[in-house]
Amino acid sequence: METYLEQATQESKILADYQTLCKYIQLQCEKDNADELDILSVLEDFLEISKELTGFFQKNLSIEQDTFWDTHALVQQESFRSIFKNLAELTGQILQNYEKPLKKCTGCGERVHYFAFPGYYQKMRKQYHVPNWVRGECGNEQEYMCPVCGAFDRDRLAILYLKKCLADHPDASLLHIAPSKGIEQFILTNFPNLRYHTCDLYMKNVTFSLNIEHMDAIKDESYHFIICIDVLEHVEKDLDAIREFYRILKPNGQALIISPVCLAIDETDEDIHATEAERWKRFGQNDHIRLYAKNDFINRLRTPGFHVSQKDIHDFGYETYQENGLLETSVLYVLEKSLSI
Ligand SMILES: [Zn+2]
Repeated sequence: METYLEQATQESKILADYQTLCKYIQLQCEKDNADELDILSVLEDFLEISKELTGFFQKNLSIEQDTFWDTHALVQQESFRSIFKNLAELTGQILQNYEKPLKKCTGCGERVHYFAFPGYYQKMRKQYHVPNWVRGECGNEQEYMCPVCGAFDRDRLAILYLKKCLADHPDASLLHIAPSKGIEQFILTNFPNLRYHTCDLYMKNVTFSLNIEHMDAIKDESYHFIICIDVLEHVEKDLDAIREFYRILKPNGQALIISPVCLAIDETDEDIHATEAERWKRFGQNDHIRLYAKNDFINRLRTPGFHVSQKDIHDFGYETYQENGLLETSVLYVLEKSLSI
């Protein structure tokens, strides 16, 4: 089976250089009478390409820059043999990871290894002592982003549902709030006749630049579908936003919602005045202002009159969840403006 690494080497001269170099380093480490001159020449090559490599790995493999510069520090302090063992170990970890079977992303249809959650967040969570239970029911840190289409795990879950409902409504209208690249690409590629609009308060190149608490620029009953993923936990008056969704949806329209819902708490923890450190510790991220408890989240979604249903592993199946790197607890909330669609 072709591994992702093999695919990547075809596309990346840098990675090909690195792979060759690492194999050579491993061989040198295994030899009892390693030629010091050979090792020196390899080391020079490594230093030469390491700057490019750092950018490449940061971008593609979520490896922190520090890992590489720590290795450089070792160069100054320890014997070449130990440096190469260190590098070989790092290489081994990378190669081992890339020998895992490929999975099929539902967004782009490519066979891929999903990239892990950015190392920055892991580091900040450690720094702020964020408890392990402070996390959403969705959010696979090990298989987070598709390297081809950029779909996050939560996007892939929404796409599973969109595939079904947009096939029946290819000419529908859809408002995508805080549009993510993976879903946008999926829709534009597969449903070119859809009336697709986007909206966000900060992003450029969106149809509407607005705060979703007050979507005055959008008329009542404008859309068949709304997608709002990982947004409500940032919004001060989330109930106002949910009421606005109800207003701008057509009768029988649906809003597809995902937000971090913590299964370990019974009451929503919410504080718009929390300090940055408190936000990390209580909500898991510095730009979140609440962590939802499940019952409360569903009650808030129901407030304007929505019928709320949950699409989960029972709807899509274990195999599909595995292929898409979804945690078994992942749930998409579907809000219907009436019971009959
Ligand atoms: Zn993909």
